[in-house]
Amino acid sequence: MKNYHAPDKQGFFGEHGGLFVAETLIPVLAEVKKAYKDAKKDPAFWAEFEDVLKYYVGRPSPVYHAERLSAHLGGAQIWLKREDLNHTGAHKINNAIGQALLAKRMGKKRVIAETGAGQHGVASATVAARFGMTCDVYMGADDIIRQSPNVFRMKLLGANVVSVDSGSRTLKDAMNEAMREWVARVDDTFYIIGTAAGPTPYPEMVRDFQCVIGNEAKKQMKKAIGRQPDIAVACVGGGSNAIGLFYPYIGEKKTRLVGVEAGGYGLDTLDHAAPISSGAPAGVLHGFRSYLMQDENGQVLGTHSVSAGLDYPGIGPEHSYLHDIGRVEYTAATDDKALAAFDLLCQYEGIIPALESSHAMAWAVENAPKMGKDQVILVNLSGRGDKDINTVAKLKGIEL
Ligand SMILES: *Cc1c(COP(=O)(O)O)cnc(C)c1O
Repeated sequence: MKNYHAPDKQGFFGEHGGLFVAETLIPVLAEVKKAYKDAKKDPAFWAEFEDVLKYYVGRPSPVYHAERLSAHLGGAQIWLKREDLNHTGAHKINNAIGQALLAKRMGKKRVIAETGAGQHGVASATVAARFGMTCDVYMGADDIIRQSPNVFRMKLLGANVVSVDSGSRTLKDAMNEAMREWVARVDDTFYIIGTAAGPTPYPEMVRDFQCVIGNEAKKQMKKAIGRQPDIAVACVGGGSNAIGLFYPYIGEKKTRLVGVEAGGYGLDTLDHAAPISSGAPAGVLHGFRSYLMQDENGQVLGTHSVSAGLDYPGIGPEHSYLHDIGRVEYTAATDDKALAAFDLLCQYEGIIPALESSHAMAWAVENAPKMGKDQVILVNLSGRGDKDINTVAKLKGIEL
């Protein structure tokens, strides 16, 4: 793994990734690629990025020893990387700031974004306000209902929320619509993609911005326990919080890396959002090739997850590659297990996690008891759960 280097010049991570878009989008993506290549080499770009992360987002986010939960489970020590403490409540702001700075550098005055849980929409609306750009957020009609507090937050921040009624009315459809809009207005518009997916150069760019998570965690764990964790685990929707944690650990061979997909009602049903752990074949969606939930005719399948942010039929291409080369293990947690882990974190640590992050927690809850007390699991707590309280109340049969 020492020589791990991805993607290649064409934007491929092994067989995954690349650029599969309509001809009209090719020059647009080439412009982004060139601008990012330039920015990546510019120390002033990264200095501004770090400055905004420090004074606006509140980084570094701490690592926290969940002592009561670890004692309750009676096995490995669980540590949390607290992305939930970031301004706007999740890891998504890291990437939104990076892309907004790139948009500014390219002279764009308007940003557009797609959103599922609403967290990326909020992050995009936030950076648009912060950097003085207008913002349109594309959101599936069903997600607008599921995530109404976040919709209102976006509006308060000055963004325009566009309801997408096509297809399954979730994240996948919102992303299609945002891409269509981008082609129509490339002159003044930059598309902020919210996860480590999409056509090249997005997967690499989003990874680079989110790597602040893993880079901080490595320093912090070394300081806290004198070594790196035995296992680092993260939930995987498109895969940005997971790749941000994992990438800096790829060369740390002693640390097992585990990605947890949304198991929905179970991998033995069709109602999940777990392309890798359900053994889905590779296919092309949203401009890149990766493992993708589809039927035998290549039609993209409907997905289900209790968490809107994981409700996506594809997965970022670097995860498919890391699966192929065996560096990261991919598994799934069902809605029920995620909800049980959600309750445990609330009750034993006083932390209300996002339902997405609860999937990573579920893996730790299940596996910590099988491990020794001197072993360490680091869980990426990708976001806070305030946005999910309506969903959880409904599932518990409680009227708010
Ligand atoms: C959006 C979201 C996710 C899923 O997205 P990734 O790109 O896979 O990280 C996970 N957790 C939270 C809190 C989110 O908002």
